[in-house]
Amino acid sequence: MSSTVLFRRGRVIDPRNGVDGVRDVLVRDGKVVEVSEAPLPVPSSAEVVDATGKWVLPGFIDLHVHLREPGEEGKETVLTGCRAAVAGGFTAVVAMPNTKVVNDSAMVTELVLNRARAAGLCHVYPAGAITKGLKGEELAEMGELVSAGCVAITDDGRPVMNASLMRRTLQYATQFDVPVMVHEEDLTLSAGGAMHEGTTSTRLGLRGIPASAEVAMVARDLVLLEETKGRLHVAHVSCEGSVRLIREAKRSGLRVTCEVAPHHFILDDRAVGDYDTHAKMAPPLRADTDVQALREALVDGTVDAIATDHAPHGVLDKQVEFEKGINGIVGLETALGLTLELVHAGVLTANRAVELLTHGPAKAFGLPGGHLAPGAPADVTVVDPDVEWTVDAHQFHSRSRNTPFHGRQQKGRVIQTWVTGHKVFDTGQVGQSKESR
Ligand SMILES: [Zn+2]
Repeated sequence: MSSTVLFRRGRVIDPRNGVDGVRDVLVRDGKVVEVSEAPLPVPSSAEVVDATGKWVLPGFIDLHVHLREPGEEGKETVLTGCRAAVAGGFTAVVAMPNTKVVNDSAMVTELVLNRARAAGLCHVYPAGAITKGLKGEELAEMGELVSAGCVAITDDGRPVMNASLMRRTLQYATQFDVPVMVHEEDLTLSAGGAMHEGTTSTRLGLRGIPASAEVAMVARDLVLLEETKGRLHVAHVSCEGSVRLIREAKRSGLRVTCEVAPHHFILDDRAVGDYDTHAKMAPPLRADTDVQALREALVDGTVDAIATDHAPHGVLDKQVEFEKGINGIVGLETALGLTLELVHAGVLTANRAVELLTHGPAKAFGLPGGHLAPGAPADVTVVDPDVEWTVDAHQFHSRSRNTPFHGRQQKGRVIQTWVTGHKVFDTGQVGQSKESR
């Protein structure tokens, strides 16, 4: 494979560097070399990508992915998860530690990193557990996890219910300057609930999870954050109250960032329909007013990143009655299409949508990439903004199929993904038309 690549005449959208226009992008030896408004000469032995009419974007970064390895390789492996990632335009993913050997030690962190290296597709940044075994009782060895390569710590999938433990975590994490990523759910409020508490849960006769289960925990952790001067990242924000608190906290200068998952800004609790377990997740799909608030927060900068919470599960996990259905959906291969729905609807500009998938997440976690200035990693996602397609879960590269978006019409799709200058995904729709003419 050529180590020099020239992306010609694509619309480069690079929010960090204020670029939005037709450019040539030259990459060499895994790095961006030049971004030019004028056409660049083709260097000898360069691979040329004719990106006319396409978008050339910094590779997407997903702060929230469950790769399931080690322990649940029937649902996903690091390899299949990376395949799904690059098919969705993601060149970097943060791997959650709630695997079936919990990533609470350097040994598991290294295993994930070794698998990622062997897969050779995208960057995988492990997140380590806050507490040993995710039990919420005893702190894991944060220093060991960070030295081994963890970029954040989180008990995701579970909240840290013990406020004193959370306070110590925030305090201790300042030594390593890693974000403490929190799954906000007060279990005493959510206990027994299967979906958002509202008119739909009443109609279906299901026990509800009130918005306060999330908002109360966000409030608690922001109070602890102010006291500890730590660094907090709120995962999968789902409701209006959380957005309001995070917005205020940011204004007052606290080091808080947050992410929203596409399903939470696209669907509301009515998607549960007649007990569809593919619409079951934690936090649950909320009210339409919450969806509206999340969209406003995506626009005004309260939200830093769109993150998928990609959560692969087997068919049998979902073919059960609603209350017993397992939480979560796969998200890597539908994230761009769903985000572009907001662009087509005039809610987000293309520039802001790209920022939420690239520089936003990179900045929140201090990760490399997310932009295309000279010297940046040559992680590039090429998108055809006009192609119309239908989500087909059977064609996912992920090992799992659990999605409520099967059959949904989308406009705009990833057609090539490049990681450190190497092509790792290609639908074959770039450049070919030029050659055949
Ligand atoms: Zn979670």
